[in-house]
Amino acid sequence: MADGDCDVLVVGSCMTDLVSQAPRLPKAGETIHGHRFFIGFGGKGANQCVQAARLGAQTAMVCKVGTDFFGDKYIENLKNNSVSTEFVSQTDRAATGAASIIVNDAGENAIVIVAGANLLLGEEELWGAEPLLGRAKVLVCQLEIRPDTSLQSLRMARERRVRTIFNPAPAVADLHPDFFRVSDIFCCNETEAEILTGSTVTGPEDAGKVGAELLRRGCCSVIVTLGPQGCVVLSAEDSSPLHIPTATVTALDTTGAGDSFIGALAFYMARYPTISLEEMARRANQVAAVSVQAVGTQTSYPWRKDLPPELF
Ligand code: ADP
Repeated sequence: MADGDCDVLVVGSCMTDLVSQAPRLPKAGETIHGHRFFIGFGGKGANQCVQAARLGAQTAMVCKVGTDFFGDKYIENLKNNSVSTEFVSQTDRAATGAASIIVNDAGENAIVIVAGANLLLGEEELWGAEPLLGRAKVLVCQLEIRPDTSLQSLRMARERRVRTIFNPAPAVADLHPDFFRVSDIFCCNETEAEILTGSTVTGPEDAGKVGAELLRRGCCSVIVTLGPQGCVVLSAEDSSPLHIPTATVTALDTTGAGDSFIGALAFYMARYPTISLEEMARRANQVAAVSVQAVGTQTSYPWRKDLPPELF
């Protein structure tokens, strides 16, 4: 990076969303006509990185795309969002990750994800990015790449005293127990919390209970996001769950809201390390609440200039 600084380093996924809107979902073997098609930039890793960058963090992605049209376009997208692509690699052994999405008029969808090049991101790329990783203020990762790559990046960050946010998405019931021990902030949504703990989460009270269980597994802090209900925050030092409501808004499209929240959280941890976790979560709620009022994933993420000055 230009001046050697890195606020937020994301080790994670890039996916191209290929979205077709049709009156209904096709049956097996059937061809139907849709009425709209668009291509979007997605993947949890890149989404979170782009949101942190739009708020003003110096960001870099460690990720892998294919040596193909979508890979080239994705790199261009990261550059357009001022994300450093120094550690974005391209491979001809797999295609750029893609999500083929069909949405019917009732808003239901059918999705096929081919993670492709994302699954080839491994140890070699992590060691290549190690000089930057050691200087980053915050490392963020998820589970759309190989879990051992995510776990190793969290371990490398911990050894170098870099703060970590881990987002266990998409969730797996048998998550390696070390993920909890090496996460400073373990941030998940209701569904992920349920899959990890086996307990139902419907609101702040349940979220507090599962949060306490996740804390017991070894992370320093837990945030459970609750859609329009905001989030619940707990820490090892203060394990009484704190419910932080979000803004009441008319939601147009909540796709990618969780990634907007995490990108914002990473930005605040890197740039405002002395404010409380509760305040960071309160501000991240506000950023994510803006994202749900516009259509799309990254297209809905606000820039700093679009947000009230009191968030900075
Ligand atoms: P995910 O996108 O992973 O399912 P959530 O639905 O929990 O995550 O949303 C993440 C955050 O986005 C919430 O904590 C909240 O701050 C914000 N958010 C989501 N939906 C709404 C909504 N309808 N109104 C206001 N804020 C929302």
